[in-house]
Amino acid sequence: MTIHILPEIVAAQIAAGEVVERPASVVKELVENAIDASADHIRIEVEEGGQRLIRVSDNGQGIPSADVATAFLRHATSKIQTLADLDHLHTLGFRGEALHSIASVSRLTLITRHRDEQAGTRMVIAGGKTQDQRPVGAPAGTVVTVEDLFFNTPARLKFLKSATTERRQITTLVTNFALAYPAIQFSLSHDGREVFRTYGGGKLADVLPLVLGAEVFRHMLEVAPLPVSRPDLPEIQVSGFVSAPDHHHANRTQITLFVNGRLIRDAALAYAVTQAYHTLLPQGRYPIAVLMITLPPDEVDVNVHPTKAEVRFRSPDAVFAAVQRAVRSTVINQAPPPEVRPHSDVQWRSTAWSARRDLAAVQADSGESIRQSPLGLEIDSPGSHGQHMTSAQPDVSGGTSDDEEAFLAGIPEGIGRPSQPRTLPMLRVLGQVGAAYIVAEGPAGLYLIDQHAAHERILYEQFLAEAVARRSIAQQTLDSVTVELPLRDIALIEENLEQLASLGFELEPFGATTLRVRAIPAMLARTDPAQAVQLVLADLEAGAPPGQRKLEEIIALRVCKAAAVKAGQVLSFTEMQAIIRQLERSQSPHTCPHGRPTMIHISAEQLARQFGRT
Ligand code: ADP
Ligand code: MG
Repeated sequence: MTIHILPEIVAAQIAAGEVVERPASVVKELVENAIDASADHIRIEVEEGGQRLIRVSDNGQGIPSADVATAFLRHATSKIQTLADLDHLHTLGFRGEALHSIASVSRLTLITRHRDEQAGTRMVIAGGKTQDQRPVGAPAGTVVTVEDLFFNTPARLKFLKSATTERRQITTLVTNFALAYPAIQFSLSHDGREVFRTYGGGKLADVLPLVLGAEVFRHMLEVAPLPVSRPDLPEIQVSGFVSAPDHHHANRTQITLFVNGRLIRDAALAYAVTQAYHTLLPQGRYPIAVLMITLPPDEVDVNVHPTKAEVRFRSPDAVFAAVQRAVRSTVINQAPPPEVRPHSDVQWRSTAWSARRDLAAVQADSGESIRQSPLGLEIDSPGSHGQHMTSAQPDVSGGTSDDEEAFLAGIPEGIGRPSQPRTLPMLRVLGQVGAAYIVAEGPAGLYLIDQHAAHERILYEQFLAEAVARRSIAQQTLDSVTVELPLRDIALIEENLEQLASLGFELEPFGATTLRVRAIPAMLARTDPAQAVQLVLADLEAGAPPGQRKLEEIIALRVCKAAAVKAGQVLSFTEMQAIIRQLERSQSPHTCPHGRPTMIHISAEQLARQFGRT
């Protein structure tokens, strides 16, 4: 093939790929233009996740009729003239690419009237070709309608996600704009239904509850402005809200950062926020934060990436320090003192045992076999022994207590039924040690069973068997329980309703930040419904890692972990028997679903050897 210059439309379609990746990118560019046009009213209408239609209407200054055609040319912008202008940039756009790109991969209609002009202009462009341009009567402002996105680039069309996924992306995007611009009234509707609206009151505190839900917002602390630490450092201001240490999230996805009104992704700054909670959050938990970082425009380079999602700071360390300092001082000064929970006898006991338990766990984790070091498990000196043994005699009183019944209800039937093949020899329960291990005897010696790991294994097999067979999962139905959740979580749940239903969750979005919980898996019956929902949210957010376990399995794992008896829980004899009976018929009784061992077996020979009998 000879070398030739690509036709302009082809070049435009290729370039469009950088700016317009999906419907949400179109919404982003159009809303940014509306903000740059000083609108205080922005309406976003979306149909079929944006693939059918995206319409953004604003009451901004509008485009002079003489400029309308120019606005669609590549690199046409009214926002900068020279590269140096980037150093005092006060607009979100400056590359002059968006309208050009969007128009080349969709059917676009723009109606605009500049504030100072009498007549407006209507312009229609399809696949980069102007179809029509004429004067029209219109209110001041601009309405851009984008239809049939990617209709002429089938390859891109193929890669679009489902309408629900795109819907969620757009919802998240618009809520983020609303957080960054509380003085602007936003309204977002999907397929004719309004899902989000703000009132333009100007305060982040007014918008945040609409996005996070009132319940989460209750746990948020306002970041107080700090004086600039040193005159030689750039003036960096940090404001916003961060969660009190008693409220946290399973991952970093709820750390939202804006730099000069622009949503950014910045792993280092997210880390600065997390760092500020050092020692205040449980291991593996993360804060929720919405932070506005303001600094002089020449301190930040936004021209790193076509979508401007990443920025470069001139003094990254100063920004890091400012964020960390602001969050830390907020958390330290304002957080309520931690709740003091009464220490129950059981907790005390489990603490007394924790050292030994750790030892056993380390040994188990290292895969070291009992044969090599049976003494690693050595029970303590005879004198103190009884103190840690929970007496567990067969229940002679007949009947079971209420608590016990509730617990037994939590152990699903089916696993451990005689119809399942036996995978362990029949074991006889002897008692419980350290409120964490069940001691049992079998034909081949002594068994120490980790009650939590074993129960987790039982529940997991039951749960997956039901989910895979698409049989109806045992459910606990609830009467009119509603849970307050952030808007984006509601969207996430909406997107996965079917999958969640197959796992026993019957959920129904009910208002922008409210979810009605109609049923949860029966094994979570004793869990607070709000907590049960939280449980799956983190996994939905993370999504299924490619090539690994299915999302369903990941959620099943999490549900089972929550439902399983914990170490530290004193079990009755009946309860222990129930666990052992069912473990005996599990498919893989030797490991918990996370791969830790459920039991340690000390054979009769090992015992004999240890006592010098052989
Ligand atoms: P950029 O935003 O980078 O300048 P765009 O392609 O997004 O490039 O827009 C081109 C120009 O069209 C803008 O510079 C602006 O002058 C004008 N424009 C686009 N959208 C609007 C709008 N909603 N209101 C007023 N002017 C607009
Ligand atoms: Mg723009």
